[in-house]
Amino acid sequence: MTKTYVVAGAGFKGFCDCLELLKQPDCKVYMVDPAPFFGGVIYSSEVHGFNVDKGVHVFDSIPVDLADVITEIMGGAVKEIDFVSESAFNGKVTQGYSLPDLSSMDDCNIKDAITAELVKLASEDHSNDHFRTLRELFDGRYGKTAGSIFSKIFENIYHVEPNELEAKALSQTSMGRMKHLSDEEMLVLKSHSWLDTVLAARRKSLKVKVDDFVSIYPDTGEAMRGWCERTTQWLQKKGVELCLGESVVKITENSGKAVVKTTKREICADKVIWANDNVKALSSAMGFECDLSDYQHRTSLVLMTMITEADKIKDFTYLQNFDPEAVNYRIASAGIFSGQVKEDGTSFITCECPVELNSEDWNNAEALAGRAWQECKHLGIVSQDATLVHLDIAKIPVAFKLPKLGYSEQLDKFRDDVSLRSKNVLFRDVTPFYRREIYLDSLEIGSLL
Ligand SMILES: Cc1cc2nc3c(=O)[nH]c(=O)nc-3n(C[C@H](O)[C@H](O)[C@H](O)COP(=O)(O)OP(=O)(O)OC[C@H]3O[C@@H](n4cnc5c(N)ncnc54)[C@H](O)[C@@H]3O)c2cc1C
Repeated sequence: MTKTYVVAGAGFKGFCDCLELLKQPDCKVYMVDPAPFFGGVIYSSEVHGFNVDKGVHVFDSIPVDLADVITEIMGGAVKEIDFVSESAFNGKVTQGYSLPDLSSMDDCNIKDAITAELVKLASEDHSNDHFRTLRELFDGRYGKTAGSIFSKIFENIYHVEPNELEAKALSQTSMGRMKHLSDEEMLVLKSHSWLDTVLAARRKSLKVKVDDFVSIYPDTGEAMRGWCERTTQWLQKKGVELCLGESVVKITENSGKAVVKTTKREICADKVIWANDNVKALSSAMGFECDLSDYQHRTSLVLMTMITEADKIKDFTYLQNFDPEAVNYRIASAGIFSGQVKEDGTSFITCECPVELNSEDWNNAEALAGRAWQECKHLGIVSQDATLVHLDIAKIPVAFKLPKLGYSEQLDKFRDDVSLRSKNVLFRDVTPFYRREIYLDSLEIGSLL
């Protein structure tokens, strides 16, 4: 008998869940999303004739199985990205590394203190480590000295103190490992099994294949939008009914099925898979009220697209800036790695600048852009004589949603409320953040249905 599923959310999570459902021999899938396009946050915007992703978006470090599906969807038009990442801290750039590199600090006493604290931590038992706050996690993993530096870096990027957040906020950051010495010295420390899990060295110096994951990017010059549009067609060919520009209004139970009323149709489904984090909309559709926004810290972002001469842009993937005084967080040579150079020789870089909502920088983003452009020159992303031909500023009020203390408890309560009202609505786990984790989490969906 045909099973009918409604997947609410046409972002990457909805896509991965859909992939799993399509493995069933006889099923009909409806994918519902209020946005008029497939892809969620991945969908690129058009800026002065360029396709520009909303920040750095790549299929980075994904399993080969997923890369095969993406390659099939793209008709082979993908390129492997050999990440040329960099990170900046203390005004110094470290090549081939995308975590904070504290080895660029001049003060050897601080580095010695960090090493001594790590060695002491390594002698302790960590089997029952449980950190309530992110600050406790920083201190418990990296020691108090490095923990306090990580906290400052974190505060500058996310505009919240890590002691206000649950430890699991770490999973949305690039701060899951630490490096404070040269690669050779880090490798010596990493020979201890616990330190190996908290410390980092640059991949190149590890001299072994670190994992089997691959990093790819669409190779059609349309940025991630190219993938979104091809995936729309691919899903439709597989029989998925894409209900875009449609919202779920009501979910009720009838004869053991879920009746889903959208703004345009009614679907009688065996299961509803809620593949987005909109708790408010789901509770409202099910006839109760829940809003977890007070339990989330929302970081806003000013995303700048800077159009300049292609030959003045450094040919690399992206840089993460961990300088506590920095304006830019991530800067990408996105126009170059997405293959977009116009006949007039221009291309673009993107700058993600986390800024507090309604702050002076938010309200006067042109002035902020001036500082960001100078920072790009200083970091060598564009050469000193590059011209800012066009500037586009997009303000994203909610870019990251970080769990404040108490969030998980409230989320569990919400989950219970949902399952009390219906056994046919599956509220998906909202914790997996990066695409690899989202995909791996979706592989479990069969056992959850
Ligand atoms: C700036 C930025 C850069 C990132 N870069 C990377 C990266 O390079 N690599 C990586 O692996 N990860 C990256 N991520 C993480 C990224 O969020 C995930 O990888 C993934 O794309 C998120 O997919 P999603 O489906 O969970 O969310 P989204 O893409 O946000 O999709 C959610 C969808 O649900 C829809 N929706 C909302 N309410 C409802 C409703 N009531 N009913 C139905 N649908 C609804 C929305 O319209 C949206 O389409 C980045 C995140 C950000 C914010």
